[in-house]
Amino acid sequence: MGRNQETKEATGNRGHLLILSAPSGAGKTTIRNALCRRFPGTKYSVSYTTRSPRTGEKAGRDYHFIDKSQFEAGIEADRWAEWAVVHGNYYGTSGEFIDHWLARGEDILLDIDVQGTVKILKRYPQAVTIFILPPSMDVLRQRLESRGTDSQADIERRLSEAKREMMEKSRYRHLVINDDLSSAIDELASIIKSYEKGNQ
Ligand code: 5GP
Repeated sequence: MGRNQETKEATGNRGHLLILSAPSGAGKTTIRNALCRRFPGTKYSVSYTTRSPRTGEKAGRDYHFIDKSQFEAGIEADRWAEWAVVHGNYYGTSGEFIDHWLARGEDILLDIDVQGTVKILKRYPQAVTIFILPPSMDVLRQRLESRGTDSQADIERRLSEAKREMMEKSRYRHLVINDDLSSAIDELASIIKSYEKGNQ
């Protein structure tokens, strides 16, 4: 057992499960990466997916890219803390990863969609949920178009899913509007810090 872990257990410090959700194009990946740099001790849960890697994505860092039969074997084996079909692909969170780090009192960050959040809250009702909103649907469309990684059909699908997801925002404990990126990151960092100080 490491010193850090002993200290956490001695002080009764329990890890937090932080869930970040946002429609695609709301800036979540940039924000998530900035938060991982600010809170290097927080364990980021790398999801498993059957979608193909995008340009610049790295296996094991952005996602664990697996095929459909591997994913379905994971469902059979009850390997996922939650899983969902998003934009026609499977996405899932490793139950073992969450249980491993929570048992050691570490904070964990999940980047998952609304369906996944609902399932995680059933299993871990103490999870801290944060929803990132784009300033408007027009800005969201511009951001999706300018990132140039998705086809027009994909963009339309993501926009209609964004509308549907944004209707669920009241399920989340915290809402952050990503109008200005650095202010949104600061706001999220202060939310996370408020939990580190032991607030519920
Ligand atoms: P993308 O393909 O753009 O990386 O992600 C599409 C959506 O899937 C995002 O809303 C993202 O949060 C969500 N997502 C990523 N990983 C998981 C996961 O493990 N579980 C669930 N339920 N959603 C996920």
